[in-house]
Amino acid sequence: MSISQLARSICESPTLKLNETAALLREKGEPVIHLGGGEPKSKAPVDAIINCAAVLNTGEVRYAPADGIPALKKAVIRYTEEHYDKVVTPDNVIASNGAKQSIMVALYSILEPKDEVVFPAPYWVSYPEMVKLAGGVPVVVTPEDGTFRPTVEEMAQAVGHYTKAIIINSPNNPSGVMYSEEFIAGMVELCEKKNLYLIMDDTYNRLVYDGRSPINCYRYTRKDLESSNLVVVNCVSKMYAMTGFRVGWTVGNKELVGAMTNIQSQQTSGPSVPAQWAAVGALNGVQSSIMSLRRTLENNRNVLVKHLNAFDGVKVVKPDGTFYTFPDFSAYMKDSQKLANFLLDKVRVVTVPGKDFGMEGHLRVSFCGTIKEITEGVERIKWALDPNSPNELYLGDRKLVRDWL
Ligand code: PMP
Repeated sequence: MSISQLARSICESPTLKLNETAALLREKGEPVIHLGGGEPKSKAPVDAIINCAAVLNTGEVRYAPADGIPALKKAVIRYTEEHYDKVVTPDNVIASNGAKQSIMVALYSILEPKDEVVFPAPYWVSYPEMVKLAGGVPVVVTPEDGTFRPTVEEMAQAVGHYTKAIIINSPNNPSGVMYSEEFIAGMVELCEKKNLYLIMDDTYNRLVYDGRSPINCYRYTRKDLESSNLVVVNCVSKMYAMTGFRVGWTVGNKELVGAMTNIQSQQTSGPSVPAQWAAVGALNGVQSSIMSLRRTLENNRNVLVKHLNAFDGVKVVKPDGTFYTFPDFSAYMKDSQKLANFLLDKVRVVTVPGKDFGMEGHLRVSFCGTIKEITEGVERIKWALDPNSPNELYLGDRKLVRDWL
């Protein structure tokens, strides 16, 4: 028996793996603090639950069109008009099992073997593996100046003969930075000039702070949708705290959406019907949950950044959005995998190694948990790493003695 070369080239999702590890340790009664998470802790909007329950109550849950139920497409069309000022038709919309599948099916639809896909570092862990799964080659642009923001010129330099697409995720997982309007405008111009697809992963675009507004990529194109290579991906996962429902969507030109629909129809079909109705409820219902989630997360961010700033040797960039920070811990340990293992082992704090996001020396530290988890988590990390901390720490009634510094 053998495993394919393709399967062997694909790594397990490190973030999903960490969730499993944290859950296993918790089951054993370990006092784990999970600062590696990627989902808000609030409840799904009530309109989502009511809609979903209504479908389940009928007891008749059947196959649906591979590109999504008409009601969801209608809700996405309305959403696109309201938030992107763009009028699109049902043929421009496809619903998928989360933004993850949206991006995956888009890549399957556009890549020839060995085509390149360019994206900046740090990047969402799944991009390189998804590009490889679709037969392509990931090309990473690491900003030269040590920031999390590449320049348009740096991105342009990475574009070559084989480049087929650029992926931009703003605000960015894991750094939390939002790219500037000039940068997004530059990406639209570059992709139009070079005839590349521009995949805008807008998963976190409504979760931005300090009075910022999402950047609308359509503002920078003069092309109509059918002649444009702009591909906009979004989902209910983060903004409505509905990660487990698995509903995302893509807006693009009809030809691309048609190709994506064919692939999805042979692969998984659309998302499950109750989940799609839940997404319809979230998109069409009362929107106050986004506002309150944004407020909670902004406050969490402020608390986390304050604590990290008080941590000697740790450099942190205040996130503009998302629920992640990406502090530089290289003054303590350069190998981020070793550091994350060390913190889990010694003080039971889960973080995600920067290496998985294409930047060594950093850890992704989330602020989607509670204030208590955030403050206690950073306190434990500080205790484990800072030689000036006291020698003992209590985790509940368990006494830890530091014997490694
Ligand atoms: N894009 C980014 C940048 C993400 O962080 C995630 C989820 N972590 C996704 C896409 C996928 O979202 P979904 O859960 O809807 O598949």
